[in-house]
Amino acid sequence: MSHILCATRSSVSGDHQERNVSHEMTVRNGTVVTGGGPIRADIGIDGGRIAAVAARLTPGTTDIDASGLVVVPGAIDPHTHFAIYSARSRTRSVDDYEAGTRAALLGGVTTVLNCAFQRPGEDLDTAIGRELELARMAHIDYGFHVAVTDLDVPDSLGQIRRLRSRGQASIKVFTSLAPYLLPKRDLLRVLEVAAETGLIVNVHVEDDALCTHLTSRSLESGRSSVAHYASARPAVAEALAVEEIGVYARAAGASVYFIYLSSEAGVRAALRARRAGTRAFIETRPLYLFLDDTRYSLPVTEAQRYVCLPPLRTPADQEALWHGLRSGDIDTYATDHVAWTAAQKGREELPFPEVPAGVSNVQTSVGMLFAEGVRKGRISLSRFVELTATNPARIFGLWPRKGTIAVGSDADIVLIDPARRFTVRSDVLASRADFDLFEGQEFVGWPVVTVSGGEVVASDGQLLSSPGRGRFLQATQQGAAV
Ligand SMILES: [Zn+2]
Repeated sequence: MSHILCATRSSVSGDHQERNVSHEMTVRNGTVVTGGGPIRADIGIDGGRIAAVAARLTPGTTDIDASGLVVVPGAIDPHTHFAIYSARSRTRSVDDYEAGTRAALLGGVTTVLNCAFQRPGEDLDTAIGRELELARMAHIDYGFHVAVTDLDVPDSLGQIRRLRSRGQASIKVFTSLAPYLLPKRDLLRVLEVAAETGLIVNVHVEDDALCTHLTSRSLESGRSSVAHYASARPAVAEALAVEEIGVYARAAGASVYFIYLSSEAGVRAALRARRAGTRAFIETRPLYLFLDDTRYSLPVTEAQRYVCLPPLRTPADQEALWHGLRSGDIDTYATDHVAWTAAQKGREELPFPEVPAGVSNVQTSVGMLFAEGVRKGRISLSRFVELTATNPARIFGLWPRKGTIAVGSDADIVLIDPARRFTVRSDVLASRADFDLFEGQEFVGWPVVTVSGGEVVASDGQLLSSPGRGRFLQATQQGAAV
């Protein structure tokens, strides 16, 4: 690639001391992209961690030739749902932690932050305990966002206070979507406790009154098909909730993380909140970058596959999101991966609120951003690494263990071949979903090797991992440091 830079003494470490040291594994001759931009460097790995980053290393016991490849920190997907039961659609998703993390690692994701939902009446410890049990078959490292949905449980604020000392960096709340949403008074109480303890509050931001009203009006007038979905949950509802949470968070002194912003109006509202002094992070999602709301005009059962929360938006919103990725306004890129089959999405027409929201995306997200973002000149390689690895690690208290290629960090490394062609085919993807929204689409520039904790877990699309090797990640106290 034309922008390969030569390693210099100041940009690498240890090239004197390393000359005669042999490592368990080396990744050599690649273009390493991590904090500070691309350099030509070799990486030495011992005991699952990065032991050296130097201009030239002796080949290790295992030696990976990365000539012509881009070497990046393993991606962190900070927003996934494995083994989730949708109370709204009364059905269970098909990817558990085994299938979900298998898909992730094959696509260059080495860490996932999954949502641990509090059930009504349940305490948070029980929710975390259940999620830990489910996650035991994970292939890669994982952490949780605990979704707080019921503040009537005795001592729930005390439980939230104790999360930080138990290694949790974040909680999640909903401004909309019964039965998950919290009343506004409870949102404020949660934000205050989060401010006291340093927890990041992930917020699903849609104004519930507006979405509920528009949805009811649509259903009552017989406009229940998916063609009317986007207008029932408009971008202005996102902006309104962002605006409100921005004010609440500022009043409480809390840090907030707006999950999957979908619209220009939503991003603008988040930026206004930032300028006014709210500590606010912004996430977006591949679906909003690669698809628009014209999909809801497809034949109904096909269009239902595109239902996600919030809905797909306009091409102008897509452009605004790409601009936000490029400029640095948007901090992270997450899938909200949740896998449903075509039958679950509806083989016949369903009223749009009953269609399970979301799709499988964790295996293709990193490659798609590289192919469509980096290769097509929309974002730089450095931005790609910030969005997929550095920023989520910093925000959620995992940096510098994760999110960088540096001595002492976990050896989570992905090799991307800028020339590799990849055609999406749901029958070869690891997800148990039996369809993919990008079926048949070809991308150029794709992950070819994934190293997790110093082990090659995927190579040329082949799985080299076994379930259960993933570890639960304790967040450090340095969260929210972007
Ligand atoms: Zn989600």
